Amino acid sequence: MTARPLTQRLFSRIDDARDDLVALTRNLIRIPTVNPPGDAYAACAEFIGRRLAGRGFTVDYLRAEGGVGDSDRYPRTNVIARIEGAAPGRCLHFNSHIDVVAPGAGWTVEPFGAEVRDGRIYGRGACDMKGGLAASIIAVEALLAAWPDFPGAIEISGTVDEETGGYAGVAWLAERGYFSLPRVDYVIIPEPLNKDCVCLGHRGVWWAEIEVMGRIAHGSMPFLGTSAIRGMSAFLERLERDLYPALNQRRTAMPVIPEGARFSTLNLNSIHGGLEEGGDGFPSALVAESCRLVLDRRYLIEESEDEVRREILDLLEAVRTERPEFRYQLRDLWSVPPVMTDADSDLVRALDRGIEQVLGQPARHVASPGTYDQKHVQRIGHLKQCVAYGPGILDLAHRPDEYIAIEDMVQSAQVMAAAAVDLLAGGAGGG
Ligand SMILES: [Zn+2]
Repeated sequence: MTARPLTQRLFSRIDDARDDLVALTRNLIRIPTVNPPGDAYAACAEFIGRRLAGRGFTVDYLRAEGGVGDSDRYPRTNVIARIEGAAPGRCLHFNSHIDVVAPGAGWTVEPFGAEVRDGRIYGRGACDMKGGLAASIIAVEALLAAWPDFPGAIEISGTVDEETGGYAGVAWLAERGYFSLPRVDYVIIPEPLNKDCVCLGHRGVWWAEIEVMGRIAHGSMPFLGTSAIRGMSAFLERLERDLYPALNQRRTAMPVIPEGARFSTLNLNSIHGGLEEGGDGFPSALVAESCRLVLDRRYLIEESEDEVRREILDLLEAVRTERPEFRYQLRDLWSVPPVMTDADSDLVRALDRGIEQVLGQPARHVASPGTYDQKHVQRIGHLKQCVAYGPGILDLAHRPDEYIAIEDMVQSAQVMAAAAVDLLAGGAGGG
């Protein structure tokens, strides 16, 4: 080893690679991997694969055949690149999703033009999360150049469909052992949580549909029927009176950001009651036979899905004791339990030290209000040491004029490289 410490050499290599980092990010943004429907996945996976194959990685293209959304027109093509070190050791994996949401309206720049202005790169996916993907590639390339005899292994993946649940992406790969020991020890997901933040996990989700059933009758004689809408409205009053105040009191110990998401939340996603309008837009004179409500309940690590469901069922039962004609059905639509990586784990501590070294300030630990691919790594892969760490501002994700600051990408690449040295050296029993 030369006189200058490894991390210092890494940091200056990454500084010197700034133009390469910008070009790589721009090239990734220009591949419009819009999901849904899942455009240009193969092109993006091959772009990443070609670059890493040129750096000595073994590259696998893994199409989730038969997976959710997969078709010949929209193949769900994932890429995983792996490089072995000079000695056995731990494997560090950087996982990024390659899909982006549709640009939507309100842009003042070309969404897939990757314009550079005032130290920022603009475009759909700039911060969520092609900037993070590019930063992780530059970090690893610098590490390979500065430390050719590193121990262990490094993987970089580009996976599909995170924006629609990740079922043909990380979930599909995790089911096949790609996110489990002994293949992988640590996973860093460079989602845009800010360069000084380590995201330990996320809250849970429970989506359910409640249908209240009424009895149809002529609208001029509603007393002959039972209105499903009035029944639902009685339930909604219960939510307002009993549930919302209780949720606002329930605060988690998880460091969820923003602050408002540190509490249990319930969003009334949609409500439909009565018959749809006829073709001429004129309603029929009917008492509503059915009213359906979709709930989006985000719950805390201190709560369980059973408790969360029970709480809703208790309120429905309370309405039924007041209104004997009240009938309902509850259907579970989707759920993900909360996940949180231990703040004292090797992975989190390595990122903490990297942040201190690069930014000269202590790392902040946060948790996400919504879910991301960490759930599949932890629940399907049973790999505990997985966090999100990457450049960019989460609020800009999915918005018009999304951008990533170039300096943030450079610094977070340096943090990733420092953490990688720490984790791989530690795994080999070194310092
Ligand atoms: Zn994302």
